[in-house]
Amino acid sequence: MTTELKTGGQHGYLRIATEEAFATEEQLDAILRLVKEGRADKGTVSLWGFYGTSPSERTTFIRERLLDLGELRLAAMDEAGIDKAVLALTSPGVQSMFDLDEARGIAARANDHLAAACERHSDRFIGMTAICPQDAEWSAQELKRGKEELGFVGVQVNSHTHGHYLDEEQFDPILRACADMDIPLYIHPQGPPDEMIGGMVEAGLEGAIFGFAVETSYHALRLLTTGVFDRYPSLKLVLGHGCEGLPFWIDRFNYMFNAGVRSQRYDRLKPLQHSLHHYLRTNVWGTNSGLPSPASIKLMMEVMGEDRVLYAMDYPYQYVPDEVRLLDAIDISPEQKVKFFQTNAEALFGL
Ligand code: CA
Repeated sequence: MTTELKTGGQHGYLRIATEEAFATEEQLDAILRLVKEGRADKGTVSLWGFYGTSPSERTTFIRERLLDLGELRLAAMDEAGIDKAVLALTSPGVQSMFDLDEARGIAARANDHLAAACERHSDRFIGMTAICPQDAEWSAQELKRGKEELGFVGVQVNSHTHGHYLDEEQFDPILRACADMDIPLYIHPQGPPDEMIGGMVEAGLEGAIFGFAVETSYHALRLLTTGVFDRYPSLKLVLGHGCEGLPFWIDRFNYMFNAGVRSQRYDRLKPLQHSLHHYLRTNVWGTNSGLPSPASIKLMMEVMGEDRVLYAMDYPYQYVPDEVRLLDAIDISPEQKVKFFQTNAEALFGL
């Protein structure tokens, strides 16, 4: 396929890519220092030990592209016909770090750096706030600053924080801030925590190939099954990678959740106000980052509703312009295509 991809709505829609990554030098330096000192978890050692130091063509490309919020990125967007990119500090953000002063500082400076780039290229770049879930009260304040002062439209949390999950009480200020200020919460993967990773590294399966989805879908399912959306009915959760598989599994989740509640086997499984399907179709949005699959996208639309499925490229990790051509040709209606590429993102993020 060689048709030229253009920005500007050549097919009747703008293309808004909603899970695009950047990094800062000090973020990568801090993560690599943890890896070197033997203090990072196994997932981080595997991922950043590789991306941070390997001299291969792919990793060099990715490091250079992550650090750029200017011409390289804009040229790549032009070449792939991407009109706008929703940008977030790359996984694991600052969530692997132990020194809270350092972690908060790196997140806040990344937010300032991103806000400046969004201002320079206000027609192309849209920002999401980086937070430091290790300090939930600070994170709630940073969410406010992100929304009110920096013009950001969401927050990216890179799944677990040292093996802890957002349904746990210490993170409540973050959920409350997202719900109160109408800030979509994008849960993006990172490597599974050491308690979960088992033999995945040895098998070569802990990363984006599999471990990411296992751990992030587990995180999302914890939010669904422990009543987070009964507590915060307006909370908006966004998941990448085909909604991390949730739409495929939802009937089984719901059936077995109800069986688990009836059995009274588990302290944390209590009756909810609605079925799990309800929360999936009311509180959750899904993107196709890393999954340019027409079958998966159509399944998401059928199960979640066509207003809840968004386009994402996952630049620079999966920069494949041919995937854009493939999705331009997906056999859904023209109206659904406009929603998928453009208007669902505009509605969710208030663009
Ligand atoms: Ca990603």
